[in-house]
Amino acid sequence: MAPKHGLAGLQSEEQLAKRAKSSATPASRSATPADTSAKVPFKVEYPIMDSEKIQTDRQKELMDAADFQVSPFVAKGASKEGELDQYYTVTPTNEWEQMKKYNNFIIQGEVYKNNQFVFVRGEDTPKDKDTEGRPKDFWVARILQVRAKNAQHVYALVAWLYWPEELPPPSVKASDQLGKESGKRRYHGSHELIASNYMDVLDVLSFAGKAEVHHWLEEDDNLQHKLYWRQTFCRETQALSKLRQHCTCKGYFNPEVTMYICDNPTCKIWLHDDHLLDDILTKVYKKHNSNDGTNGVAKINGKKSKNPPYKNAFKATIREENDEPPVAVITDLRPNADPKTWEERIACPECEELLQ
Ligand SMILES: [Zn+2]
Ligand SMILES: [Zn+2]
Repeated sequence: MAPKHGLAGLQSEEQLAKRAKSSATPASRSATPADTSAKVPFKVEYPIMDSEKIQTDRQKELMDAADFQVSPFVAKGASKEGELDQYYTVTPTNEWEQMKKYNNFIIQGEVYKNNQFVFVRGEDTPKDKDTEGRPKDFWVARILQVRAKNAQHVYALVAWLYWPEELPPPSVKASDQLGKESGKRRYHGSHELIASNYMDVLDVLSFAGKAEVHHWLEEDDNLQHKLYWRQTFCRETQALSKLRQHCTCKGYFNPEVTMYICDNPTCKIWLHDDHLLDDILTKVYKKHNSNDGTNGVAKINGKKSKNPPYKNAFKATIREENDEPPVAVITDLRPNADPKTWEERIACPECEELLQ
C-alpha cells in the first residue's frame, strides 16, 4: 500500500495517482502477501457543502454522504474556533460505511486506540525500523477512526502531522522562511511537527509503531527532545496558526535557541540572546558616544540594521554561572580603549529591570 501524505500544491494529481497505484507491502510485515488487496481502496475527499455551488451529480453525492470531523488539534493561536474542523467524504462511501467501526486494534501485540499518534511507513522509508533514532524517515499521523472488513483488512482514518521540511512554501515568501524548497521557518525545532487537517485512509499495516507526540503550549521550555506540535497547518487556508510572540523583535521561540526571561512579574518577556546582545551593545554605544556630537540614536535611525553602529566599536557575550544573574561581558574594540573589557548586569530592554 502507498499511504498518501503529500500536501496540495506539492504534488500533481498524476503523481499522487502513481503513488496510490504501486502497492508495496510494508517491509515490517513480510508475512503479508504483496498483492493488490493490500492497496488502500479508500480515498478521502472534501466536498463542496454549499448546495448553490454544486454543479455535478458527483458533487451532490459527495455532499450528501459527507461526515463532519472535529479536529483533535486545537492550536493556541488558531484564527477561529474549530478552524481545522471540516466535512469530508470517504469514497467509495457504501463500502466504507458498511464496515464495522472499532475503538482499537492490535498490530504485533500492540494495542492502538483512536487518537493515538502513529509512525507511518512511506514508500521511501528504510526497511529497518528506527522510529526513535531517525523519526524523520517516517510520517506521523493521528488515528481518528478505525473500520475493518475482517481481520486482514483493517483501515484507519487519520489526520496527518508534517515535519517542517514537508510544509509547502508560502505563496509570498515569509521573512523567517529558511529556504525556497519548503515552508520551514527559523523557529521550527528539530523535534517539531505541524498538525494538519489533511486526512487519509490507511491500511493499518503501514503503521510502524506508536509515536509519542506532546502538545506543547509554549508555557515552558521543558521539551526534553520529545516530539511535539504547537502549530497547525489548515488545508483550506494553507495557513499556519499563529504562535506566541516573544522578544523585542516580536519573533518566535525556537526551543533549540536560548532565550532569557525577564523576572519582573509585570513584564515576563522572553528574549532571544542575539536581540538581548543587540540591546546591550546599542546602549553601550550610546553611552560612549553621547558627547561626541553624533548622538547614537540618530545613527541607529530607529531600525535594526545589518550593520549596527556599534559593529566595529564593541562586542559582547553573555556569561552565565550557576545561580548567578547573567552578565554581559563587553569588549571595547576601538584603539587605545581603556578599559578594554568589563562586565555589566543586563537590564531588560522592555522594563529596564535587571535580569536575575
Ligand atoms: Zn528577538
Ligand atoms: Zn522586563
